[in-house]
Amino acid sequence: MTDHSDLEPVRAPLPVGAAPRRPTRQVQVEWGGRIVRVGGDAPVVVQSMTNTDTVDAIATAIQVKELAQAGSELVRITVNTPEAAREVPAIREQLDRMGVSVPLVGDFHYNGHKLLGQFPECAQALSKYRINPGNMGGGKKRDDNFAQMIEVACRYEKPVRIGVNWGSLDHELMARMMDDNSKRAQPWDAQAVMRDALVVSAISNARRAEELGLSPNGIVLSCKVSHVQDLITVYRDLSARCDYPLHLGLTEAGMGSKGIVASTAALAVLLQQGIGDTIRISLTPEPGGDRTREVIVAQEILQSMGLRAFTPMVVACPGCGRTSSTVFQELADSIQAYLRRQMPVWKTRYPGVETMNVAVMGCVVNGPGESRHADIGISLPGTGEIPSAPVYIDGERSVTLKGDSIAEEFQLIVEQYVERRYGAGNQ
Ligand code: SF4
Repeated sequence: MTDHSDLEPVRAPLPVGAAPRRPTRQVQVEWGGRIVRVGGDAPVVVQSMTNTDTVDAIATAIQVKELAQAGSELVRITVNTPEAAREVPAIREQLDRMGVSVPLVGDFHYNGHKLLGQFPECAQALSKYRINPGNMGGGKKRDDNFAQMIEVACRYEKPVRIGVNWGSLDHELMARMMDDNSKRAQPWDAQAVMRDALVVSAISNARRAEELGLSPNGIVLSCKVSHVQDLITVYRDLSARCDYPLHLGLTEAGMGSKGIVASTAALAVLLQQGIGDTIRISLTPEPGGDRTREVIVAQEILQSMGLRAFTPMVVACPGCGRTSSTVFQELADSIQAYLRRQMPVWKTRYPGVETMNVAVMGCVVNGPGESRHADIGISLPGTGEIPSAPVYIDGERSVTLKGDSIAEEFQLIVEQYVERRYGAGNQ
């Protein structure tokens, strides 16, 4: 037996999991009877943004529907021109006709005060306004424009996100803070001043919105930057200096694996510390790529961290020289896709199914062990192994599959398991 007597004993079980969420106010974003709660004791909300031209109401409504069906709980659309603002009520109506109740968030820059004032039906059809205080002009004009947007939010009882972005940070504020910095005995570097300015801009604009009459329970804040370490530092600071719910996102995260990895690295650190009430993953889609990818990535971050459950997870080994074919990769892929496809129906028919774990393993080395730990698992034969695939259900070896239709048979076993374990007879 291995001797471990020289190891320092651990005095108590080590804690597992994220820190408790930072206490915040709670904002309600509503459409019809649908209420999405952000902050407080609400789960971290997944949101996304369309990339269609808002003027094309049908294309935008279709994409909003796709994002909502993928699991986006709020969907933001850009409202950048009078033509776009005019189409917002049509988009909302089209969604309502399709039975899609996801609240819409209007993304405003430069001219939001004018558009919200000129198009009251647009102001009404949106459930929340995103305001960027860094691009509303300067001096008194900026203050007036900001006040006009807040006045509309108060009139229609809509919450706002005050979204500061380092690509459009308030120049006057930054200049003032750089001046003040130069008077410090030991001036900070410009990056540190910029990070501080982002936080100061977000919080001071939120306070101004409150002075103008907006409820503090109607304000969400964000301070987006495009570098992971800056984002973590900014949000730690922001979370310590206010109790507004926070929208997390790494802006301009990028394409493909770079965007996913950078977003995950930044958001996971913050979420682990209990910081963040709603997330958006700003992925650049591949040409012709699927916009819903950003929703799936957001869900996978939250589910991998054990913060929420959306769809059954498939554990699959990476494969190695012991796997003689691509059968197990294909099976892992097809089962994950199958489970995701079923979820729109399963989530109401089989409550709790989203927490199910499925293992698809490539050989006998870790296959039976990992499969036993899953709710349901299959261990496929590796090179030189007997061509059979034992299936494990709730930790016990069940049937052994053989032949060319292992994938179909395994899918059927998963379906039967879901019905048995999560079906109405079991509630
Ligand atoms: S379970 Fe088998 S096939 Fe999969 S990585 Fe491990 S050794 Fe390789």
